[in-house]
Amino acid sequence: MGKSLIDGKEIARQKKTLIAEEVEKLKKDGIVPGLAVILVGNNPASKTYVTNKERTCRELGMHSVLIELPESVSEEALLNQVAELNEDSSIHGILVQMPLPDHINEKKVIEAISPEKDVDGFHPVNVGRMMTGQDSFLPCTPYGVMEMLDYIGADIAGKHVVVVGRSNIVGKPAGQLFLNKNATVTYCHSKTPDLKAFTTQADILVAAVGKVNIITKDHVKEGAIVIDVGMNRNSEGKLCGDVDFSNVKEIASYITPVPGGVGPMTITMLMFNTLKAAKAIKNKATTV
Ligand code: NDP
Repeated sequence: MGKSLIDGKEIARQKKTLIAEEVEKLKKDGIVPGLAVILVGNNPASKTYVTNKERTCRELGMHSVLIELPESVSEEALLNQVAELNEDSSIHGILVQMPLPDHINEKKVIEAISPEKDVDGFHPVNVGRMMTGQDSFLPCTPYGVMEMLDYIGADIAGKHVVVVGRSNIVGKPAGQLFLNKNATVTYCHSKTPDLKAFTTQADILVAAVGKVNIITKDHVKEGAIVIDVGMNRNSEGKLCGDVDFSNVKEIASYITPVPGGVGPMTITMLMFNTLKAAKAIKNKATTV
């Protein structure tokens, strides 16, 4: 890859090597980090994500449990399953694959997960801890973005970061993590008039929308760092991001490709969070 490309695959590979080493060390102390994933229904995209998570767990020597529940499962039965996993000492991280069927309240399910096992970082306790700068589980995609910027040695303090997208899982926490690192942060969303007026001011531009080519060369300041979180299919069915990559790469100082950019980092940070959860149990045991 060229100098200006941020190679998420390679950064993820290096990080996973370090995680696997830490897992081995923990195993010597009798702790095998364990991740439980609950999948409700047969959504093919969700199934693929879950399979990748399981495979990565195994690659890194972690314990992995997949619980598949039918689309018709009741909210109560799902909450009972989460409660059981909260009590299971072989499980350090719990992830409920979203989206859930309409008859299940996603917020209720997220809040049922013990904050100590919330490796997705979606529980309000972890969101609050993140906002107040306390130690917490950070949501995996924004966390992965920060790791990529750290890898290239990007200066964040004092920079203007523009985040396009304000979802609870990507946009909002991404902006917060940049704020925690002393950036000046602007959020843009579907009600933002004249997107370009904001994005062209960005030293670091994060696109987390889910629309092919919403960010073109005209949206980007020369020399900006461009992070493309989007995962879309173009008219030919090819995986692509939110950024018009071939043109924007000509003016960006750094840019993430899709595929091979943010995607591999997300799953890696999930593994990192699971390791962190397992280590916390170990530390608790030694301080009692
Ligand atoms: P959401 O659909 O939850 O949020 C999309 C955001 O984009 C919303 O805040 C919306 O604004 C905003 N938006 C929509 N249209 C426009 C517009 N025309 N101009 C400016 N903003 C707009 O998506 P997610 O945050 O969950 O995901 C975003 C993308 O990232 C998707 O492509 C998804 O697949 C991908 N993704 C990739 C991951 C990875 O690992 N690489 C992980 C997670 C997601 P409003 O709030 O006003 O509706």
